[in-house]
Amino acid sequence: MKVDGRCLCGFISYMAEVDPEQAQVCHCTDCQVLSSSAFRHTVPARHGTFKLLTGELKIYVKTAESGNRRALAFCPSCGTSIYSAPVEGSARDTYFGLRVGPLAQRDQLPPKSHCWTRSRQHWVTDLATLPEVEKE
Ligand SMILES: [Zn+2]
Ligand SMILES: [Zn+2]
Repeated sequence: MKVDGRCLCGFISYMAEVDPEQAQVCHCTDCQVLSSSAFRHTVPARHGTFKLLTGELKIYVKTAESGNRRALAFCPSCGTSIYSAPVEGSARDTYFGLRVGPLAQRDQLPPKSHCWTRSRQHWVTDLATLPEVEKE
């Protein structure tokens, strides 16, 4: 499935191909901090299909608990998180995780699984039962 994305300020735009069956919610603590929320919603881009159309990304390299290093890409202007990818030259790490939020097709990419539920916030599973307001 082809997707296209745009950051909040519009400086960054891009396209890629994804497998919607692999959309996932991650509850790891890094994702909680980086997303400024309780979890992050990601879908892997097929190898080599990510294409930056406009702008220039800011990259932060994060070293994980495992020692694995990941390149995290952001808009340098508005801070929208775009992807996490292997650092260049990494042989065994190929996972290219696109953040679903900035994608125009976000409503077609419901998550199919959860990961890192060990650190999931306890209230996440009760969200559907909370009072709702259609618009703020
Ligand atoms: Zn931006
Ligand atoms: Zn995570």
